[in-house]
Amino acid sequence: MVLKAGIKQKLSLIFFLFFLIFTGTVGVLLFNVQSIVQTTEHIVTNNNEIDKLADVLLSSLFDMESNHKKLIILKKERYSQYFVQAKNRYETALTDVVNLSLVDSSSKTWHDLEFSYYRHREGLWNSGTIPNIGKRWISDKVVSIWQKNITSAKTQNLQEIESALHELNTRSLISVRNGLYGFCLSVIVGLFGLWYLSRSIFSPLKKLTLGLRRISQSKLHKPITLKGGHEFNELATAYNEMSHQLTEEDNIRNEFIATLSHEIRTPLSSIRESVNMIVEEVFGPVNSNQAKFLKIASVEIQRINKLLNYLLNVSVLESGVRKKAATKVEPANLVQHSNEMFTSVAEKKSVTLQVQPPKKSPYLYGVREELQQVFINIIGNAIKFSPGGKSVFITWETKTEGFILFHVTDLGPGINEEEISLIFTRYYRAKEVRGHLDGVGLGLAISKKIVTSYGGEITVQNNRVGGCTFSFSLPSCK
Ligand code: ADP
Repeated sequence: MVLKAGIKQKLSLIFFLFFLIFTGTVGVLLFNVQSIVQTTEHIVTNNNEIDKLADVLLSSLFDMESNHKKLIILKKERYSQYFVQAKNRYETALTDVVNLSLVDSSSKTWHDLEFSYYRHREGLWNSGTIPNIGKRWISDKVVSIWQKNITSAKTQNLQEIESALHELNTRSLISVRNGLYGFCLSVIVGLFGLWYLSRSIFSPLKKLTLGLRRISQSKLHKPITLKGGHEFNELATAYNEMSHQLTEEDNIRNEFIATLSHEIRTPLSSIRESVNMIVEEVFGPVNSNQAKFLKIASVEIQRINKLLNYLLNVSVLESGVRKKAATKVEPANLVQHSNEMFTSVAEKKSVTLQVQPPKKSPYLYGVREELQQVFINIIGNAIKFSPGGKSVFITWETKTEGFILFHVTDLGPGINEEEISLIFTRYYRAKEVRGHLDGVGLGLAISKKIVTSYGGEITVQNNRVGGCTFSFSLPSCK
């Protein structure tokens, strides 16, 4: 489900996850900080105060004891006042400690102490503020029990402080750890989200680019499937529709050209035969004017015939069916044959063909007519585009195992850089030559088809000194 989601949904999901982790971490941290604050507050307000009051209780109890003993022995009034002051301090502290310890574990001890104190005070002092002078105000044993109880409650309170501090420490550590976990999780989710998003965007884009490049290089149009969410699925559908339409249009065009070429060929043969018969004076003598025009007609018929052969060649190559068997072919022979074909054209333009064969070269392996076609197209173009008086250079070398690499260099106008990728496309002709030079824009497309069908490569490069060099590789004999 996540895979099918679009970029927008994925982005929202990652943001939501990030937000959830962030708020969760902050929430837990806030809760911990709040409970730390509460515990600290409790220690400061309650436990510390109880500790102080316990000290007051012990000291005032001691004062009561000592002043009363002095009162019995020395019988001086001021000891009675001291006793009362100590007693008041003791009682106030006792009330405060009982109120403060309501929620503490030591509360029972303080309650018992209060209960025991007031019980003894009621019984011994007959509700007066000072016990009888001649008598002990309370037995040593009771005093010692109270001291013991105060001390134990004080210890209990200290233990409570200690355990609260320990809890504080633990909570702080947990908070730090949770904060760290939250931070790491956010970073992981963020990084994963980033990786996942970029993958869902770049991988389909890469596929799409490859597909489009294939179309621009007139390679096979294959349908593509993209896994980057519904935006990319829509893009893939649009691409596949376009690619399908292009393939269909290609097929229709090829079929149409093949049928048309076939249909034109038969009447063209009849016309050629008829013209030949008239030229050969089968139907009577022809005058010089008639012979001149018949020659023009014959040349034009040849031109149309060549064009038809070209077009038929394309459709045969498109169908991928190789009609003839491959044989051993000598490269120098192919070059020489092509050169002979263009001798008169080259001579007319004073273009010299300079063949520079390597000292030793293996044979080529392929269908002779097909290989020959490549040489005719490339050398023919080099002569066609060469300015008068310049040379065309033809060289070859055995560079990669199993292939011979040919170079045909001319000193013509070269090719515009932006048109280099287009000239191998069927029917493409450079803007500058469209108006004034012969051609249909098929020679290079046919050559590329033949070369690539043998596993070779064909490229073109502009020369620094002017003109361009076509390089193509063809399989050699093993
Ligand atoms: P055509 O030559 O029939 O136009 P090609 O397929 O042989 O068709 O060539 C396609 C285009 O490539 C040509 O129209 C021309 O613009 C360019 N081209 C081919 N060879 C050369 C060359 N040697 N120098 C300059 N441009 C060339």
